[in-house]
Amino acid sequence: MVDATAQPRTQELATADIALRIGDHTLKTKVTVPTANVSLKSLLPMMQSISSTIVQIGEKNVEEKGLTISCQKGCGACCRQLVPIAPVETHGIRDLVDAMPEPRKTEILRRFADAKEKLTTAGMWQTLDERAEWPEDEVLKIGVDYFRLGVACPFLEDESCSIHLDRPMACREYLVTSPAANCANPTPEGVEWVPIPTKTWPVASKIEQQGPPQRYLPWVPLIQALDFAAEHEEGPERPGTEWVRDIFNGIARESTTPAKKQPAQ
Ligand code: SF4
Repeated sequence: MVDATAQPRTQELATADIALRIGDHTLKTKVTVPTANVSLKSLLPMMQSISSTIVQIGEKNVEEKGLTISCQKGCGACCRQLVPIAPVETHGIRDLVDAMPEPRKTEILRRFADAKEKLTTAGMWQTLDERAEWPEDEVLKIGVDYFRLGVACPFLEDESCSIHLDRPMACREYLVTSPAANCANPTPEGVEWVPIPTKTWPVASKIEQQGPPQRYLPWVPLIQALDFAAEHEEGPERPGTEWVRDIFNGIARESTTPAKKQPAQ
């Protein structure tokens, strides 16, 4: 997983039974976390698992309407889009790449560097750096401009995700029911996205947000993950139980229906 080496400083663990109402479904899960201070990054595997579970609810909802998910292994059209990730995910990706054996690590770093060069030449890298200032009515156009540059995610291989188990939450939360071919030229009219009841990556982003609210949530383009992680320290450590409380409270707030949560014990 993202950080298999992270260990709680003590063996004291707390277990919580969680029941969260997501639309017409109830997400029931049991989580065990250290009571000691840990980084939010160490809980990324748990958040990824929650994300995937909520996505399954979205899939079930559309399938109950007779629709079929078009996304399949070997279709990587969406992997040339501007993928938003939470700041904490950049450090998870940095660790993942750091742990790769050679020559794979060098190859992945080369792809990130090639992408940066192409985006810089096109002026897009600078545009991404200025994302906090984007006018809201230009966000869609910037996304389209980015897609048209045809920069594949460095983890895309043979049109499949080479880090499937560790892929960012936004990647899990992007599914379509429209024909896969439409994703090669994505427009709001041509692509039918699967509504995800609650997206987990913004929850992860909000938890670490500091200072007054900004126009946009803190987010990082996946293609800038390694640069961001190199330039920014990891967030503070807190008791695992506090992180879990904030994660599930955040998911409950993002959900459209009232949530029920049993606190960590
Ligand atoms: S991480 Fe994987 S799923 Fe996400 S954009 Fe990259 S290749 Fe695609």
